[in-house]
Amino acid sequence: MTFNDLSLHKNILRAIEEVGYNQPTEIQEKVIPFILQEKDVIGVAQTGTGKTASFALPIIQKILKNQHASKRKKQIRALIITPTRELAEQIQQAFITYVKYTNIRSIAIYGGTAMEPQIDQLKKGVEVLIATPGRLLDLYKREELRLDNVEILVLDEADLMLDMGFIDDVKKIVKITPENKQILLFSATMPKRIMTLSNEILHEPEKVEISQKTPKIIEQKLYYVSKRKKMELALHLLRNEIKGSILIFRRTKFGVDKLEATLKKNGYKVTSLHGDKSQTVRQNALNSFKNNDVNILIATDVASRGIDINGLDAVVNFDQPNIPETYIHRIGRTGRAGKTGVAYSLCSPDEVAYIKRIQKLIEQPIQEIKDHPYIQRPKNKDIERPQEPKKKKYKKGRKSAASKKKKKRWY
Ligand code: AMP
Repeated sequence: MTFNDLSLHKNILRAIEEVGYNQPTEIQEKVIPFILQEKDVIGVAQTGTGKTASFALPIIQKILKNQHASKRKKQIRALIITPTRELAEQIQQAFITYVKYTNIRSIAIYGGTAMEPQIDQLKKGVEVLIATPGRLLDLYKREELRLDNVEILVLDEADLMLDMGFIDDVKKIVKITPENKQILLFSATMPKRIMTLSNEILHEPEKVEISQKTPKIIEQKLYYVSKRKKMELALHLLRNEIKGSILIFRRTKFGVDKLEATLKKNGYKVTSLHGDKSQTVRQNALNSFKNNDVNILIATDVASRGIDINGLDAVVNFDQPNIPETYIHRIGRTGRAGKTGVAYSLCSPDEVAYIKRIQKLIEQPIQEIKDHPYIQRPKNKDIERPQEPKKKKYKKGRKSAASKKKKKRWY
Protein backbone atom coordinates (compact mmCIF):
# COMPACT_ATOMS: atom_id res chain seq x y z
CA MET A 1 0.00 0.00 0.00
CA THR A 2 1.13 3.57 -0.65
CA PHE A 3 0.07 6.83 0.95
CA ASN A 4 -1.70 7.62 -2.35
CA ASP A 5 -3.99 4.63 -1.75
CA LEU A 6 -5.15 6.24 1.48
CA SER A 7 -6.57 9.11 -0.58
CA LEU A 8 -4.92 11.83 1.45
CA HIS A 9 -4.88 15.48 0.35
CA LYS A 10 -2.01 16.40 -1.97
CA ASN A 11 -0.64 18.93 0.48
CA ILE A 12 -0.36 16.23 3.11
CA LEU A 13 1.28 13.85 0.63
CA ARG A 14 3.79 16.54 -0.24
CA ALA A 15 4.83 16.94 3.40
CA ILE A 16 5.08 13.18 3.91
CA GLU A 17 7.21 12.81 0.84
CA GLU A 18 9.48 15.57 1.98
CA VAL A 19 10.03 13.94 5.34
CA GLY A 20 10.91 10.71 3.55
CA TYR A 21 8.12 8.26 4.38
CA ASN A 22 7.91 5.81 1.48
CA GLN A 23 4.90 3.84 2.59
CA PRO A 24 2.46 3.72 5.46
CA THR A 25 3.35 1.60 8.47
CA GLU A 26 1.02 -1.21 9.53
CA ILE A 27 -0.89 0.91 12.01
CA GLN A 28 -1.26 3.76 9.54
CA GLU A 29 -2.55 1.40 6.87
CA LYS A 30 -5.18 0.03 9.22
CA VAL A 31 -6.18 3.06 11.28
CA ILE A 32 -6.28 5.88 8.72
CA PRO A 33 -9.24 4.48 6.72
CA PHE A 34 -11.30 3.96 9.89
CA ILE A 35 -10.65 7.51 11.06
CA LEU A 36 -11.63 8.90 7.68
CA GLN A 37 -14.85 6.87 7.91
CA GLU A 38 -15.66 8.70 11.17
CA LYS A 39 -15.32 5.54 13.26
CA ASP A 40 -14.16 5.45 16.86
CA VAL A 41 -10.89 3.55 17.07
CA ILE A 42 -8.90 1.66 19.67
CA GLY A 43 -5.28 1.43 18.55
CA VAL A 44 -3.09 -0.93 20.49
CA ALA A 45 0.41 0.04 19.51
CA GLN A 46 3.53 1.27 21.13
CA THR A 47 5.67 4.16 20.10
CA GLY A 48 7.89 3.53 17.10
CA THR A 49 5.06 2.03 15.07
CA GLY A 50 4.17 5.34 13.45
CA LYS A 51 1.04 5.79 15.56
CA THR A 52 1.32 9.58 15.76
CA ALA A 53 1.00 9.95 12.01
CA SER A 54 -1.79 7.36 12.03
CA PHE A 55 -4.02 9.86 13.81
CA ALA A 56 -2.36 13.12 12.77
CA LEU A 57 -2.68 12.62 9.02
CA PRO A 58 -6.42 11.81 8.93
CA ILE A 59 -7.08 14.63 11.40
CA ILE A 60 -5.37 17.08 9.06
CA GLN A 61 -7.26 15.58 6.14
CA LYS A 62 -10.59 16.07 7.89
CA ILE A 63 -9.81 19.63 8.88
CA LEU A 64 -8.72 20.48 5.33
CA LYS A 65 -11.80 18.92 3.81
CA ASN A 66 -14.09 20.99 5.89
CA GLN A 67 -12.13 24.14 6.57
CA HIS A 68 -14.31 27.07 7.37
CA ALA A 69 -13.39 29.63 4.79
CA SER A 70 -14.87 32.48 6.74
CA LYS A 71 -12.64 34.98 8.46
CA ARG A 72 -13.78 33.81 11.86
CA LYS A 73 -11.13 32.86 14.34
CA LYS A 74 -9.89 29.30 14.06
CA GLN A 75 -11.71 26.90 16.37
CA ILE A 76 -10.28 23.88 18.15
CA ARG A 77 -11.51 20.96 16.06
CA ALA A 78 -9.10 18.23 17.16
CA LEU A 79 -8.03 17.75 20.76
CA ILE A 80 -5.17 15.39 21.56
CA ILE A 81 -4.64 14.43 25.17
CA THR A 82 -1.33 12.93 26.13
CA PRO A 83 0.15 12.27 29.58
CA THR A 84 3.51 14.05 29.51
CA ARG A 85 5.00 17.32 28.32
CA GLU A 86 7.59 15.53 26.23
CA LEU A 87 4.93 13.55 24.41
CA ALA A 88 2.91 16.71 23.84
CA GLU A 89 5.97 18.40 22.32
CA GLN A 90 6.74 15.35 20.21
CA ILE A 91 3.22 15.21 18.81
CA GLN A 92 3.35 18.96 18.16
CA GLN A 93 6.60 18.50 16.21
CA ALA A 94 4.92 15.79 14.13
CA PHE A 95 1.98 18.10 13.37
CA ILE A 96 4.32 20.93 12.41
CA THR A 97 5.91 18.58 9.88
CA TYR A 98 2.66 17.33 8.41
CA VAL A 99 0.77 20.66 8.19
CA LYS A 100 3.67 22.38 6.45
CA TYR A 101 1.75 22.91 3.20
CA THR A 102 -1.54 23.85 4.82
CA ASN A 103 -2.66 26.80 6.91
CA ILE A 104 -3.68 24.63 9.83
CA ARG A 105 -2.38 25.72 13.19
CA SER A 106 -1.59 23.46 16.12
CA ILE A 107 -0.16 24.12 19.55
CA ALA A 108 0.89 22.09 22.55
CA ILE A 109 -0.01 23.15 26.07
CA TYR A 110 1.30 21.45 29.19
CA GLY A 111 2.11 22.11 32.82
CA GLY A 112 5.48 23.03 34.28
CA THR A 113 5.79 26.14 32.12
CA ALA A 114 4.17 29.56 32.21
CA MET A 115 0.54 29.79 31.15
CA GLU A 116 0.64 33.22 29.55
CA PRO A 117 2.49 32.33 26.34
CA GLN A 118 0.13 29.40 25.89
CA ILE A 119 -2.87 31.67 26.45
CA ASP A 120 -1.50 34.13 23.88
CA GLN A 121 -1.14 31.32 21.36
CA LEU A 122 -4.66 30.09 22.06
CA LYS A 123 -5.98 33.61 21.50
CA LYS A 124 -4.59 33.55 17.98
CA GLY A 125 -6.79 30.54 17.24
CA VAL A 126 -5.81 26.94 16.54
CA GLU A 127 -7.50 23.94 14.97
CA VAL A 128 -5.40 21.29 16.67
CA LEU A 129 -4.75 21.42 20.39
CA ILE A 130 -2.33 18.97 21.99
CA ALA A 131 -2.50 19.02 25.77
CA THR A 132 -1.69 17.30 29.00
CA PRO A 133 -4.85 16.76 31.06
CA GLY A 134 -4.09 19.05 34.01
CA ARG A 135 -3.12 22.13 32.03
CA LEU A 136 -6.03 21.67 29.65
CA LEU A 137 -8.54 21.61 32.50
CA ASP A 138 -6.84 24.57 34.17
CA LEU A 139 -7.14 26.72 31.06
CA TYR A 140 -10.65 25.49 30.42
CA LYS A 141 -11.74 26.49 33.93
CA ARG A 142 -10.22 29.92 33.38
CA GLU A 143 -12.23 30.13 30.17
CA GLU A 144 -9.10 30.62 28.11
CA LEU A 145 -10.26 28.02 25.61
CA ARG A 146 -13.50 26.65 24.22
CA LEU A 147 -14.04 23.02 23.41
CA ASP A 148 -17.50 23.13 21.85
CA ASN A 149 -16.20 22.70 18.31
CA VAL A 150 -14.12 19.61 19.00
CA GLU A 151 -14.88 16.95 16.39
CA ILE A 152 -12.12 14.48 17.22
CA LEU A 153 -10.70 13.61 20.61
CA VAL A 154 -7.51 11.55 20.75
CA LEU A 155 -6.45 9.85 23.98
CA ASP A 156 -2.82 9.02 23.43
CA GLU A 157 -0.85 6.58 25.61
CA ALA A 158 -4.06 5.84 27.51
CA ASP A 159 -2.47 3.18 29.71
CA LEU A 160 0.24 5.56 30.83
CA MET A 161 -2.40 8.20 31.42
CA LEU A 162 -4.23 5.87 33.81
CA ASP A 163 -0.95 4.76 35.43
CA MET A 164 -0.26 8.42 36.15
CA GLY A 165 -3.65 8.88 37.81
CA PHE A 166 -5.37 10.92 35.11
CA ILE A 167 -8.51 8.81 34.88
CA ASP A 168 -10.84 11.42 36.38
CA ASP A 169 -9.35 14.19 34.28
CA VAL A 170 -9.79 12.09 31.14
CA LYS A 171 -13.42 11.40 31.96
CA LYS A 172 -13.99 15.09 32.64
CA ILE A 173 -12.47 15.99 29.27
CA VAL A 174 -14.73 13.49 27.55
CA LYS A 175 -17.69 15.12 29.29
CA ILE A 176 -16.85 18.75 28.46
CA THR A 177 -16.37 18.07 24.75
CA PRO A 178 -19.35 17.67 22.37
CA GLU A 179 -21.27 14.42 22.65
CA ASN A 180 -21.14 13.46 18.99
CA LYS A 181 -17.36 13.67 18.66
CA GLN A 182 -15.19 10.89 17.27
CA ILE A 183 -12.85 9.33 19.86
CA LEU A 184 -9.55 7.64 19.10
CA LEU A 185 -7.87 5.83 21.95
CA PHE A 186 -4.27 4.70 21.65
CA SER A 187 -2.58 2.54 24.21
CA ALA A 188 0.58 0.46 24.26
CA THR A 189 -1.17 -2.19 26.31
CA MET A 190 -4.79 -3.16 26.87
CA PRO A 191 -5.23 -3.91 30.56
CA LYS A 192 -8.73 -4.36 31.95
CA ARG A 193 -8.92 -0.75 33.12
CA ILE A 194 -8.45 0.48 29.56
CA MET A 195 -11.09 -1.93 28.28
CA THR A 196 -13.51 -0.61 30.89
CA LEU A 197 -12.75 2.99 29.95
CA SER A 198 -13.16 2.18 26.24
CA ASN A 199 -16.52 0.54 26.85
CA GLU A 200 -17.60 3.59 28.77
CA ILE A 201 -16.60 6.30 26.33
CA LEU A 202 -16.22 4.85 22.82
CA HIS A 203 -19.02 4.14 20.39
CA GLU A 204 -18.76 0.83 18.49
CA PRO A 205 -15.01 1.20 18.09
CA GLU A 206 -12.84 -0.54 15.53
CA LYS A 207 -9.91 -2.21 17.21
CA VAL A 208 -6.51 -2.31 15.57
CA GLU A 209 -3.75 -4.18 17.28
CA ILE A 210 -0.12 -4.09 16.22
CA SER A 211 1.92 -7.04 17.39
CA GLN A 212 3.60 -6.49 20.74
CA LYS A 213 6.01 -9.35 20.28
CA THR A 214 9.70 -8.60 20.49
CA PRO A 215 11.16 -7.67 17.12
CA LYS A 216 13.63 -10.31 16.01
CA ILE A 217 16.56 -8.01 15.47
CA ILE A 218 17.03 -7.32 19.15
CA GLU A 219 19.62 -9.47 20.81
CA GLN A 220 18.69 -10.03 24.44
CA LYS A 221 21.18 -10.87 27.16
CA LEU A 222 20.55 -11.74 30.76
CA TYR A 223 23.10 -11.38 33.57
CA TYR A 224 22.44 -12.84 37.00
CA VAL A 225 24.23 -10.77 39.60
CA SER A 226 23.95 -9.97 43.28
CA LYS A 227 22.32 -6.69 44.18
CA ARG A 228 25.57 -5.38 45.63
CA LYS A 229 27.58 -6.05 42.50
CA LYS A 230 25.17 -4.61 39.94
CA MET A 231 26.97 -1.28 39.72
CA GLU A 232 30.29 -3.04 39.14
CA LEU A 233 28.77 -5.27 36.50
CA ALA A 234 27.33 -2.21 34.73
CA LEU A 235 30.76 -0.54 34.74
CA HIS A 236 32.36 -3.76 33.52
CA LEU A 237 29.89 -4.01 30.64
CA LEU A 238 30.33 -0.34 29.70
CA ARG A 239 34.11 -0.77 29.69
CA ASN A 240 34.19 -3.96 27.72
CA GLU A 241 31.08 -4.48 25.72
CA ILE A 242 28.37 -1.85 25.44
CA LYS A 243 29.20 0.90 22.99
CA GLY A 244 27.35 3.66 21.16
CA SER A 245 24.12 5.30 22.27
CA ILE A 246 22.84 3.64 25.39
CA LEU A 247 19.60 4.00 27.32
CA ILE A 248 19.72 2.67 30.88
CA PHE A 249 16.50 2.06 32.80
CA ARG A 250 16.17 2.31 36.54
CA ARG A 251 13.01 1.91 38.53
CA THR A 252 13.33 4.91 40.83
CA LYS A 253 14.43 8.52 40.62
CA PHE A 254 16.89 7.84 43.43
CA GLY A 255 18.37 4.97 41.42
CA VAL A 256 18.70 7.18 38.35
CA ASP A 257 20.57 9.88 40.28
CA LYS A 258 22.86 7.38 41.96
CA LEU A 259 23.82 5.64 38.74
CA GLU A 260 24.34 8.97 36.99
CA ALA A 261 26.73 10.12 39.70
CA THR A 262 28.69 6.86 39.59
CA LEU A 263 29.03 6.85 35.82
CA LYS A 264 30.08 10.51 35.79
CA LYS A 265 32.70 9.75 38.41
CA ASN A 266 34.02 7.06 36.10
CA GLY A 267 34.36 9.48 33.22
CA TYR A 268 31.26 8.62 31.19
CA LYS A 269 29.20 11.20 29.36
CA VAL A 270 25.82 10.78 30.94
CA THR A 271 22.53 12.55 31.32
CA SER A 272 19.24 11.54 32.86
CA LEU A 273 15.47 11.94 32.82
CA HIS A 274 13.05 11.57 35.67
CA GLY A 275 9.87 13.14 36.90
CA ASP A 276 11.43 15.37 39.55
CA LYS A 277 13.36 17.40 37.00
CA SER A 278 11.95 20.57 35.52
CA GLN A 279 10.69 20.68 31.97
CA THR A 280 13.70 22.67 30.75
CA VAL A 281 16.18 20.34 32.40
CA ARG A 282 14.44 17.31 30.90
CA GLN A 283 14.31 18.85 27.45
CA ASN A 284 18.00 19.77 27.64
CA ALA A 285 18.88 16.24 28.74
CA LEU A 286 16.92 14.79 25.86
CA ASN A 287 18.49 17.18 23.37
CA SER A 288 22.03 16.45 24.52
CA PHE A 289 21.37 12.73 24.10
CA LYS A 290 19.70 13.14 20.72
CA ASN A 291 22.54 15.39 19.49
CA ASN A 292 25.12 12.88 20.69
CA ASP A 293 26.72 15.29 23.16
CA VAL A 294 26.37 12.46 25.65
CA ASN A 295 25.95 8.83 24.71
CA ILE A 296 24.31 7.49 27.86
CA LEU A 297 20.82 8.39 29.03
CA ILE A 298 19.50 7.04 32.32
CA ALA A 299 15.75 7.17 32.80
CA THR A 300 12.72 5.89 34.65
CA ASP A 301 9.97 4.27 32.61
CA VAL A 302 7.46 7.04 33.12
CA ALA A 303 9.92 9.78 32.16
CA SER A 304 10.95 8.03 28.98
CA ARG A 305 7.82 6.38 27.72
CA GLY A 306 6.60 7.44 24.33
CA ILE A 307 9.62 9.63 23.70
CA ASP A 308 10.95 9.16 20.24
CA ILE A 309 14.56 8.13 20.72
CA ASN A 310 15.65 6.31 17.62
CA GLY A 311 18.49 4.09 16.54
CA LEU A 312 19.80 3.08 19.95
CA ASP A 313 22.68 0.66 20.09
CA ALA A 314 21.76 -0.73 23.47
CA VAL A 315 19.16 -0.70 26.19
CA VAL A 316 20.25 -1.70 29.68
CA ASN A 317 17.68 -2.87 32.19
CA PHE A 318 19.66 -2.01 35.28
CA ASP A 319 16.53 -2.75 37.29
CA GLN A 320 13.92 -5.17 36.02
CA PRO A 321 10.46 -3.77 35.37
CA ASN A 322 7.71 -5.17 37.58
CA ILE A 323 5.23 -4.98 34.71
CA PRO A 324 6.39 -7.44 32.03
CA GLU A 325 5.00 -5.38 29.11
CA THR A 326 7.37 -2.59 30.15
CA TYR A 327 10.27 -4.84 29.14
CA ILE A 328 8.95 -4.91 25.59
CA HIS A 329 8.56 -1.11 25.51
CA ARG A 330 12.06 -0.64 26.83
CA ILE A 331 13.92 -2.97 24.52
CA GLY A 332 11.80 -1.91 21.55
CA ARG A 333 13.90 1.24 21.52
CA THR A 334 16.89 -0.57 20.11
CA GLY A 335 16.97 -2.26 16.77
CA ARG A 336 14.59 0.17 15.14
CA ALA A 337 14.69 0.97 11.44
CA GLY A 338 16.66 -2.15 10.56
CA LYS A 339 19.40 -1.45 13.08
CA THR A 340 20.38 -4.35 15.29
CA GLY A 341 20.28 -3.53 18.96
CA VAL A 342 21.18 -5.32 22.13
CA ALA A 343 19.18 -5.38 25.34
CA TYR A 344 21.07 -6.14 28.55
CA SER A 345 19.18 -7.23 31.64
CA LEU A 346 20.91 -7.18 35.01
CA CYS A 347 18.93 -9.39 37.33
CA SER A 348 19.48 -9.66 41.08
CA PRO A 349 17.93 -12.50 43.13
CA ASP A 350 14.93 -10.40 44.17
CA GLU A 351 14.08 -9.75 40.53
CA VAL A 352 14.08 -13.31 39.25
CA ALA A 353 10.29 -13.53 39.33
CA TYR A 354 10.07 -10.49 37.05
CA ILE A 355 12.38 -12.14 34.54
CA LYS A 356 10.28 -15.30 34.63
CA ARG A 357 7.15 -13.31 33.86
CA ILE A 358 8.90 -11.42 31.06
CA GLN A 359 10.05 -14.66 29.47
CA LYS A 360 6.51 -15.99 29.67
CA LEU A 361 5.19 -12.87 27.96
CA ILE A 362 7.72 -12.86 25.12
CA GLU A 363 7.37 -16.62 24.83
CA GLN A 364 11.08 -17.21 24.78
CA PRO A 365 13.91 -17.54 27.26
CA ILE A 366 16.38 -14.66 27.37
CA GLN A 367 19.90 -15.83 26.64
CA GLU A 368 21.82 -16.06 29.90
CA ILE A 369 25.41 -14.81 29.83
CA LYS A 370 27.45 -16.83 32.27
CA ASP A 371 30.83 -15.52 31.30
CA HIS A 372 31.14 -12.49 33.58
CA PRO A 373 33.02 -11.77 36.79
CA TYR A 374 30.04 -11.02 39.04
CA ILE A 375 27.80 -13.96 38.34
CA GLN A 376 25.36 -15.00 41.03
CA ARG A 377 22.92 -17.54 39.75
CA PRO A 378 19.52 -17.54 41.41
CA LYS A 379 18.76 -20.21 43.93
CA ASN A 380 15.56 -22.21 43.69
CA LYS A 381 13.93 -20.22 46.43
CA ASP A 382 14.49 -17.03 44.44
CA ILE A 383 12.67 -18.50 41.51
CA GLU A 384 9.72 -19.81 43.48
CA ARG A 385 8.83 -16.91 45.72
CA PRO A 386 11.16 -14.03 45.14
CA GLN A 387 8.96 -11.02 45.48
CA GLU A 388 6.76 -11.68 48.43
CA PRO A 389 7.94 -9.55 51.28
CA LYS A 390 9.64 -11.71 53.85
CA LYS A 391 7.19 -12.43 56.60
CA LYS A 392 8.52 -11.66 60.01
CA LYS A 393 8.65 -14.83 62.02
CA TYR A 394 7.58 -13.07 65.18
CA LYS A 395 5.26 -10.26 65.85
CA LYS A 396 7.06 -7.01 66.45
CA GLY A 397 8.14 -6.61 70.01
CA ARG A 398 7.34 -10.16 70.97
CA LYS A 399 9.60 -13.07 71.63
CA SER A 400 8.60 -16.64 70.85
CA ALA A 401 8.00 -19.03 73.67
CA ALA A 402 11.11 -20.96 72.65
CA SER A 403 13.26 -17.88 72.71
CA LYS A 404 11.92 -16.88 76.10
CA LYS A 405 12.73 -20.30 77.44
CA LYS A 406 16.27 -20.16 76.10
CA LYS A 407 16.86 -16.71 77.37
CA LYS A 408 19.69 -16.40 79.83
CA ARG A 409 19.75 -13.20 81.73
CA TRP A 410 23.05 -11.43 81.71
CA TYR A 411 22.60 -9.96 85.10
P1 AMP B 1 5.69 7.16 16.47
O1 AMP B 1 5.36 5.70 16.65
O2 AMP B 1 4.52 7.95 16.07
O3 AMP B 1 6.41 7.71 17.66
O4 AMP B 1 6.71 7.28 15.22
C1 AMP B 1 8.00 6.78 15.28
C2 AMP B 1 8.89 7.31 14.19
O5 AMP B 1 8.51 6.79 12.93
C3 AMP B 1 8.87 8.83 14.04
O6 AMP B 1 10.21 9.26 14.01
C4 AMP B 1 8.20 9.06 12.71
O7 AMP B 1 8.74 10.19 12.07
C5 AMP B 1 8.50 7.80 11.93
N1 AMP B 1 7.46 7.42 10.94
C6 AMP B 1 6.12 7.53 11.08
N2 AMP B 1 5.49 7.05 9.99
C7 AMP B 1 6.44 6.63 9.14
C8 AMP B 1 6.41 6.04 7.83
N3 AMP B 1 5.27 5.76 7.20
N4 AMP B 1 7.60 5.73 7.27
C9 AMP B 1 8.77 5.98 7.93
N5 AMP B 1 8.85 6.54 9.13
C10 AMP B 1 7.71 6.85 9.75
